[in-house]
Amino acid sequence: MIMPVRLRLTILFSVLVMIILCVVCGGIYYFSYTTRIANITKRLTNRAITTARLLGQKETFDRDLVQKIDSLTTIALKDKTVQAYDYQNNKIYSYSDLPADTLHIDESILDDARVSGSKYFRIGDKEAIAYHYSDSNARIVVISAAEDIDGKKGLRSLLNILLLSFFLGNVFVLVTGYIFSTRILLPIKKIAADVEEISAQNLTRRIETGITKDEWYQLADTMNRLLDRLQESFEFQRRFISNASHELSTPLTAISSQMQVTLQRERSLEEYKHVMQSVYEDVRHMSKLTQTLLEFAKASGDAGGLEINLLRIDEVILRLPAELARIDKHFKVSVEFVQLPENEAQLLVFGNEILLLMAIKNIVLNGCKYSKDHHTYVTLKANNKKIIITVKDNGPGIPENEISKIFQPFYRVKNNTDNDGFGLGLSLASKIVVMHKGTIEVASKMNVGSEFLISLPVAGTLH
Ligand code: ADP
Repeated sequence: MIMPVRLRLTILFSVLVMIILCVVCGGIYYFSYTTRIANITKRLTNRAITTARLLGQKETFDRDLVQKIDSLTTIALKDKTVQAYDYQNNKIYSYSDLPADTLHIDESILDDARVSGSKYFRIGDKEAIAYHYSDSNARIVVISAAEDIDGKKGLRSLLNILLLSFFLGNVFVLVTGYIFSTRILLPIKKIAADVEEISAQNLTRRIETGITKDEWYQLADTMNRLLDRLQESFEFQRRFISNASHELSTPLTAISSQMQVTLQRERSLEEYKHVMQSVYEDVRHMSKLTQTLLEFAKASGDAGGLEINLLRIDEVILRLPAELARIDKHFKVSVEFVQLPENEAQLLVFGNEILLLMAIKNIVLNGCKYSKDHHTYVTLKANNKKIIITVKDNGPGIPENEISKIFQPFYRVKNNTDNDGFGLGLSLASKIVVMHKGTIEVASKMNVGSEFLISLPVAGTLH
């Protein structure tokens, strides 16, 4: 059975207070009990000493007189009994408030008193003291016993008060504990209710954080930030799908309308050839787009499912000229290694070779595509922390206000468009670089050229 947190808190709280109350009440009771015993012992001892001294004075030894004194000096000792024994354990004196109230004293008690001076013991309901008195005249043991009525009564009422306080205290703690934990957990209920109302359709809703910056505020705030990220990612997906569908539907519409027009009547072979050529180009474009979309999907996941290896970045860079020449024979890439470290380990990167090559290739490809000379200059630098790859071209440049947008999927700068592009290359490259814990920066000057700076961490610095 799952116990609600509220109940668990209440029980924990109550048990703690119960233990504290128990210790305090127990302590008070124990202290009062020992005080009562000390008190009655003192009084009984006084009584015994007085009687012993009187009995010790042989010249005044008058049983009746001593009994009279014993009967008069009661000082709240109820049903008092005083008995005296000589060194041979013979009873030499006896007095009791109640006539036939004689105590039967064990010889061992008398012996104990002789050894230790005095001994406290109980006999029936009474408290008793065996007191050993000795002087030049006498060596006697006086037993003085009485019922500590007042002391016991006081202790009993104290016990009742303590039990009542303990019981009432626990009830109070249970009730307040329950109210307290309900109040403490109320914000959680509110947060749960708020979250319940948030769905993929109304991701704009947020959890109420309240004003006090406590732990609940932090929880709500953290969840709100998570919702921000979720909303952003949903938005991104939505825009992406709509852009991708648009990109796919444009050539499809073109194909369909071309076919429709062509099929309206008989055409010459030349005309058919022309239409086929145009359809072929559209289909090729679409096929390339779907390929890019697939690559995009691959790079959008987390790095978990990818094959990650230690790879040498200079080897990746050296593949670029051939890769670009394969795309278009006019594309030229010059590679230059500057300030390369002597230690080859500083050129090692943890990553997926295919994806990293794809990312750098996309940036280099843009340099070749958009510049008139179709020439891109790649340089590689490295220190013990970072590997820096710069990709420079003498192209048209990117307007400053658009630099931040070029990494968004499907975004294309108006004047620098190339028929083969979809606006996905840079966003794919940025995703891959971020996945490798790197960064991309852009510096561009209109009509002079652009420079992309890719920075990747050296494998040794990644943990
Ligand atoms: P595309 O497939 O259109 O090249 P990208 O995501 O690679 O898509 O680039 C986005 C846009 O940024 C491009 O359409 C282009 O307008 C601009 N751009 C990227 N690189 C350069 C560059 N080196 N010089 C000028 N413009 C560039």
